[in-house]
Amino acid sequence: MFKVKERGRNSYQFYTEDLTHRAMQRMLLENGIRKALTDQHFVAWYQPQYDIETNQLIGMEALARWISPDRGIISPLDFIPLAEETGLILELGEQILDQVMQQVVGWHEQGLNPGRVAINVSGKQLLNGNISATVKRLLEQNRCKVEWIEIEVTEGFVMGQGEGAIEQLQELQALGVQLSIDDFGTGYSSLAYLKQLPISKLKIDKSFVDDLPHDLDDTGITRAVIALANSLGLDVIAEGVESREQADFLLQEGCPLAQGYLYSKPLPADKITTLLKNG
Ligand code: C2E
Ligand code: CA
Ligand code: CA
Repeated sequence: MFKVKERGRNSYQFYTEDLTHRAMQRMLLENGIRKALTDQHFVAWYQPQYDIETNQLIGMEALARWISPDRGIISPLDFIPLAEETGLILELGEQILDQVMQQVVGWHEQGLNPGRVAINVSGKQLLNGNISATVKRLLEQNRCKVEWIEIEVTEGFVMGQGEGAIEQLQELQALGVQLSIDDFGTGYSSLAYLKQLPISKLKIDKSFVDDLPHDLDDTGITRAVIALANSLGLDVIAEGVESREQADFLLQEGCPLAQGYLYSKPLPADKITTLLKNG
């Protein structure tokens, strides 16, 4: 029945062993996530972001990792989707927000400057989570300054939600939280709608950056996103930058900021501390 519903209903599916197996896997994963939440096994790693021209660190993106005693380091791609489906993302998202704020405050207390740290927030957190109240409470609790963080929401979510999303984002903006649109270019943005959103940054998706500067479609899309950001007065950053050539192209086209393996992979907090200490 679930399989049929997943595929758009009004149909049938035969029972197979594989279905039982997959249902089992899901259940195990869901239970695993619950246990990991209790045991605090979700940990934020950090990927530095740089000014391409000056090579200055300007901030970082916090990316969740599941540090499992049995399975090692588990990628967010393997647990975020199910966490979203089951609603566990609300608890997970809150743990990450709390943890990142504590870390950022800790760095500042040590006299280190991590720049602005971006935290990914899923659509479910925005719709069902009363995100602005949560962010406000955690900022106060941790004595974290609002300008030390930034929140990333995906274009796909924002565009799918209409007015509902604008309200949530406006509440965050009212707190002073900077918002950036992740995976920009992969959804179907209405320009009129984009103009109404209280956002300050567009993130050019890795899928467009991958084939820069050779692929004609990707160079075209990248130029268009940069032009759009500039004309709307928004900052723009590219993700997934792996080569010098890509960085040079982006800078030349007017995108001054980048994040990607060219500079650094996401790193655990203690490695970032070392990096910040060594300048
Ligand atoms: P995202 O927000 O688009 O994050 C960018 C992903 O690209 C990260 O994968 C990062 O490690 C990877 N990446 C960055 N630069 C490069 C590069 O130069 N080359 C390559 N090959 N990859 C690069 P990661 O950490 O596996 O995260 C995957 C996705 O999981 C994220 O995509 C985000 O959608 C989600 N995610 C991660 N942490 C959280 C979280 O705390 N909350 C929520 N809601 N989602 C999260
Ligand atoms: Ca992101
Ligand atoms: Ca992205």
